[in-house]
Amino acid sequence: MVTTHNLGFPRIGRKRELKFALEKYWKKEISEQALLEAAITLQTQHWQDQALLDWIPVGDFSLYDHVLDTSFMLGNVPARVSVLTGNDMDSYFRAARGRAVIDDAAHSCVNASEMTKWFDTNYHYLVPEFDENTHFSLNPERLVRQIKQAQQIHHQVKPVILGPVTYLWLGKSKDGTDKLDLLDDLLNAYAQLLGELEKLDVQWVQIDEPVLIMELNPAWKHALRKAYYQLQASPVHLLLTTYFGQLQENLQLACELPVSGLHLEAVIAKDEIAKVIDWLPSHKILSLGIINGRNIWKTDLNETLDWLESIHLDLGDRLWLAPSCSLLHVPIDLDSEQQLDVDIQSWLAFAVQKLHEVAVLAKALNHGRSSVAEILDENKADIASRKQSDRVHQAVAKARAKEINEAMGTRRSPYHQRTILQQKKFQLPLFPTTTIGSFPQTQEIRKARQDFRQHKRSEQEYRLAMRKEIETCIREQEALGLDVLVHGEPERNDMVEYFGEQLSGYAFTEFGWVQSYGSRCVKPPIIYGDVLHTKPMTVEWIQYAQSLTQKPMKGMLTGPVTLLNWSFVRDDQPREDTCMQLALAIREEVLALEKAGIGIIQIDEAALREGLPLRKSQWKTYLDWAIRAFRITANGVADETQIHTHMCYSEFNDIIEAIAQMDADVITIETSRSDMELLDVFDQFHYPNEMGPGVYDIHSPNIPSVDSMIALMQKAAQRIPARRLWVNPDCGLKTRNWEEVKPALENMIAASRYLSRNLSAAKVS
Ligand code: GLN
Ligand code: ZN
Repeated sequence: MVTTHNLGFPRIGRKRELKFALEKYWKKEISEQALLEAAITLQTQHWQDQALLDWIPVGDFSLYDHVLDTSFMLGNVPARVSVLTGNDMDSYFRAARGRAVIDDAAHSCVNASEMTKWFDTNYHYLVPEFDENTHFSLNPERLVRQIKQAQQIHHQVKPVILGPVTYLWLGKSKDGTDKLDLLDDLLNAYAQLLGELEKLDVQWVQIDEPVLIMELNPAWKHALRKAYYQLQASPVHLLLTTYFGQLQENLQLACELPVSGLHLEAVIAKDEIAKVIDWLPSHKILSLGIINGRNIWKTDLNETLDWLESIHLDLGDRLWLAPSCSLLHVPIDLDSEQQLDVDIQSWLAFAVQKLHEVAVLAKALNHGRSSVAEILDENKADIASRKQSDRVHQAVAKARAKEINEAMGTRRSPYHQRTILQQKKFQLPLFPTTTIGSFPQTQEIRKARQDFRQHKRSEQEYRLAMRKEIETCIREQEALGLDVLVHGEPERNDMVEYFGEQLSGYAFTEFGWVQSYGSRCVKPPIIYGDVLHTKPMTVEWIQYAQSLTQKPMKGMLTGPVTLLNWSFVRDDQPREDTCMQLALAIREEVLALEKAGIGIIQIDEAALREGLPLRKSQWKTYLDWAIRAFRITANGVADETQIHTHMCYSEFNDIIEAIAQMDADVITIETSRSDMELLDVFDQFHYPNEMGPGVYDIHSPNIPSVDSMIALMQKAAQRIPARRLWVNPDCGLKTRNWEEVKPALENMIAASRYLSRNLSAAKVS
């Protein structure tokens, strides 16, 4: 018999119950006890949702983050957190977000741990911290408690733990200590943990080592061998689990490690499975992740069975089935959606539906396809409907994509000629000042947008409200004395959704929330079909804004790569093709703005870096098409038109050449927190165009002083000629309030004025 299981379930709840419970707890509206009760209610619900499987996961749930949970379980709590008074929960939230409920809300007392992306997903984990004093000591109580709770509901419970080598890999050495020096001590804690699990009658433990899909040097490969040779003495069966990519050169290693079973992702790495079956010792079980845990599309069950049946013949009972990875990365339940178009709905599967697919496939293998004939037929019809639908396939879009040529992505003249024309046209001072786009989104703005959406406010009233807000923004910017103005983006609640809603090929869910970090969730839109520009999306607002001022107005757009990286995308064509369609659509908007007399256009690529493949050897391929897409979007304009782009991070060193190839006239970037560290790259690389390194940290309520901003810009001016520098905040201001923004921008402008007066002509090369 084929065995079914799941690697992990979304934690946040169908109605984001976890988010709301956490936020109430942080505001002291509910007790710790009530928070824990909310958590167990959710977990119980989730175990019931998974009851159709042979094995259910436990330990995948977390109040904030599973990597942070692992750190606490291993007794690796940052000293700055553990020395403070309070209980475990207080330490936990101090490490997670810098503040426990018992702390004075006015000043958070410690620095939270750093947060970073979990492999190439949009989930963020808390980075484990290591130093020479790091010592591990096991605290398994939380996991033990959960296992006991789950065992009351289901007879086969499979704890999920993060493997020791991946745990070290994900962490950061604070003092240069070699992380691998900690392995021996860490393995003792893991061995002890497995012993504890055995006492609970646990048979299988899922031990996640996604590090196996990364490019590993010999030391890390050795660490894997050492870890599993040592842990093989444990009395429980280990299911070594990888996901998110192919094993490639680590395939043999993964097959040989002394564990009882191996889980591999069989979506991206489908082509590797035959080889794995060949290598895998015959006593090991093989779990195949045949359902895509990263996307929201229904699986073609018939086609999957065509492939699986012969594998099943080969492996028999040794075959297990599961989604490719934890379902943390998809929304919970498609049945919650009431507003989706019926066709589109019939093409989708969220977490609950994906587990049904696993169960159906297993039943078909165990009892023959006839045992699930009706479901297979229905699935066949849904898959065919999506393949043929003219909602998905639009001939115009395909024809346009074919017409793309290099000339479309190339400005007429090089930057050094364009800049002369642009300078003549805009007459900007040295160190020109601008902002990144959005201004504070007040309650009133949100209410106006919401009322309009819910048909409680007429379109005319809504437009008037937005125009009023735009006018306020312009007057404030003029009063402050900014050089290049923006309209303030009051009409946008989200930089992707706003465009997606107006392009063809995009669908939106009501409850399709996915955890981003802690209590924060995002609701990625779904690109289901060919993307087309159907109408101008921003021109009216920006033209109106321009009509109110003599100063240049910067038109504001989201770029194709960011639209792609922050959406669920089609799986029936390469990402690259979808990106090109987005590029053509936004290009039309760029040209429409230019035609409407807007001379400066910013195309945000906040998420460009997020699409980088996990393996560096694949970066070039991605960057080639991503940069090409940006160029197609941006570079159809006249030389006098100034193109800006914006990025929300400062790790540029490894992609700076690609960034330069975008050939934007101006790039604004986040830098203030990193103290201009980013600029080190310009010692080696001569960035040819203009740059605005952010000097105002918009993620903080603090108001930066004039001096601090002058100091940052002076650092920048050591690397980039002053003539090519802009002065601007790190990112958009929509999450701040006017009381903070006004003095901060006042200081920013004062800093710019000081710099243009004081940096002597000699330095202005
Ligand atoms: N133009 C957007 C804004 O100002 C940019 C947001 C972002 O980079 N994340 O809000
Ligand atoms: Zn940004």
